[in-house]
Amino acid sequence: MRPIIGITSDYNGGDRPEFGGKIPTCFLRDRYVHAIEATGGISLILPPLESPSKSARSILERIDGLLLTGSGPDIDPVLYGERRRFPFKTVHPKRFSLERELVREAMKKKMPILGICGGMQMLNVAAGGSLYQDIRKQIPKSIQHQRDGKPAHLIEVKKGTLLSKIVKQDRLRVNSSHHQGVKQVAPGYVVNASAPDGVIEGIEAVGYPFVLGVQWHPEYLNPDDRSDILFKAFLKMAAQYRKAGTQFLE
Ligand code: MN
Repeated sequence: MRPIIGITSDYNGGDRPEFGGKIPTCFLRDRYVHAIEATGGISLILPPLESPSKSARSILERIDGLLLTGSGPDIDPVLYGERRRFPFKTVHPKRFSLERELVREAMKKKMPILGICGGMQMLNVAAGGSLYQDIRKQIPKSIQHQRDGKPAHLIEVKKGTLLSKIVKQDRLRVNSSHHQGVKQVAPGYVVNASAPDGVIEGIEAVGYPFVLGVQWHPEYLNPDDRSDILFKAFLKMAAQYRKAGTQFLE
């Protein structure tokens, strides 16, 4: 049985006309769906909802793992107790509230969660952490993190972490397409990877089988960053989660 992964979709509520014009539109980059299928899973795209608190648990009953995707816009700083210091678009409230609800409920169930780029930032904010609103302005000596899907910079993987156990390497060359990053790491999380300038490139929740966030984009499946191994580890945990759940019901 292939594990079914719920993938949160992106959303144009009329504020991102490049994706569907002025008509409210749910959309998702196909590379996320492709990466899940190529490494042995099935995607179920999860669009934002009017009342996520009523639906999150029903959704989670039907999936084996949760993938939080990246996004063009950034999380509203109000949600981590800051004012907006620079001009940038913010994630639509419908999308944010569904993702936060899904993360909270999925963690109660110890469901495997993978957060990619903005998805990692979402994990951090949902658990009470904060973000750099603009890496270049707030970390003057930072390297260029705002690039494309091609390998961009090295990261150091912290020994003893779940990420280290999965990739089995101390260093990876990863792509980088972000201008924000984790500032205050949320309670319950630890850093599992960082860039040469100190920018946090990965976090994971302590005491959970698989709640992991990466700042790069493994869904490009670049061989340099062992993305296929990361996805396969995620899918393996999702399959085990599914199996344990079935046994529990019996
Ligand atoms: Mn980076």
